[in-house]
Amino acid sequence: MAIPTDLEHARTLDGRDELAAFRARFVIDDPALIYLDGNSLGRLPIAAAARAEQAVREEWGSRLIRGWNDGWIGLPERLGAKIALLLGAAADEVLVADSTSVCLFKLVTAALRSGLAAGRTRVVTDALNFPSDLYVLRSALALADDNHELEVVPSADGIGVSPTALAAAIDRRTALVALSHSSFKSAWLHDVGAVTAHAHEAGALMLWDLSHSVGAMPVPLGEANADLAVGCTYKYLNGGPGAPAFLYVRRDLQERLDNPVAGWLGHEDPFAFAAEYRPAAALRRFLTGTPPVLSLALIEPGVDLLLEAGLARLRAKSVAQTEYLIGLWEALLEPLGFRLGSARDPERRGSHVAVLHPEGLRISRALAERKNVITDFRLPDSIRLGVCPLYTTFAELHAGVMALRDVVERGLYQAYPAERTGAT
Ligand SMILES: *Cc1c(COP(=O)(O)O)cnc(C)c1O
Repeated sequence: MAIPTDLEHARTLDGRDELAAFRARFVIDDPALIYLDGNSLGRLPIAAAARAEQAVREEWGSRLIRGWNDGWIGLPERLGAKIALLLGAAADEVLVADSTSVCLFKLVTAALRSGLAAGRTRVVTDALNFPSDLYVLRSALALADDNHELEVVPSADGIGVSPTALAAAIDRRTALVALSHSSFKSAWLHDVGAVTAHAHEAGALMLWDLSHSVGAMPVPLGEANADLAVGCTYKYLNGGPGAPAFLYVRRDLQERLDNPVAGWLGHEDPFAFAAEYRPAAALRRFLTGTPPVLSLALIEPGVDLLLEAGLARLRAKSVAQTEYLIGLWEALLEPLGFRLGSARDPERRGSHVAVLHPEGLRISRALAERKNVITDFRLPDSIRLGVCPLYTTFAELHAGVMALRDVVERGLYQAYPAERTGAT
């Protein structure tokens, strides 16, 4: 059904938005900026700016090394317990440590080396997974001693993966199934419950990368009884550039797995400075070196905002906003040659919408430089329009699509080079 494409309608939708007040909790110093890239780097919560000042001046500046005993040492677990609330996991099942890629390497390697995967040599993933995840999986497999191999289930349309094809790839040879819950490019959403159940029926372990879903929707890790997970904190969690990632290990597996990058912070008693490594009990063994305290401290304010807003309400708004974007695409962008790069079924769609155009790179550049609209571009032709339900407005989405239309209709992108420069 066609949706109204006027700005008035967008404003009406904003007027009905129960979460609208959360936008004022973020630093927005250019009200004219249309920011549709919070799925790559979330905005700065006002409380995080204040927390940064406190962490630097008071904790580091005044307390100096005493800070470790004032709370720094327990931060990876304390924040993990809070993030667990976003995952339906228990407080002692989540730990904040390292980058997502490193957390993934640790958990995959630990799983493959454990008795839990004995006699099994395959890891199953899909072609929609984040490239870094594929690199990490391959390097973890190369270090495993058997003839391990990675099976990458293809995507027929670049948008989704057939649940039947995925199920068919998982069998008695499968040690581990490792997937991104929501795909970075198309936002394709796997069914966590169904896929985890299938992996378990085959006797395989299940690992989810939640980087593109956590904070935008409830993630039912606990309910699905998933084994392992990792996720990023600088996207929908608004933890700041390069903020450390989290890892989840179901409680009954924690002492059956060993950290492949054993280090002193994961030792049972780090300050004994013992020559022999003895892993800490439970999840703390997955720490390696000194936690990045300042970055860790900045994660909490964003998580608090999500908990205050409530994940069910965030997901409802995210679905309404991606539906709205798809409605605008159909009315205004499809006639200009844009294709839809995300699923139409909201059950299979995360919190961004990809629109595809052969001139996508130049278009996204023209959007940023001529229209003050920030999106991002993913090769070969995908412009991602990210929806962050804590602060994205319907009026912003409307303005973003209008700007896209103008850039293409007036050929404004033609002034920009087609070569990539720097980060996109
Ligand atoms: C963003 C993202 C990452 C980020 O990895 P880092 O190692 O933290 O840079 C990893 N996996 C997925 C699926 C992502 O979306």
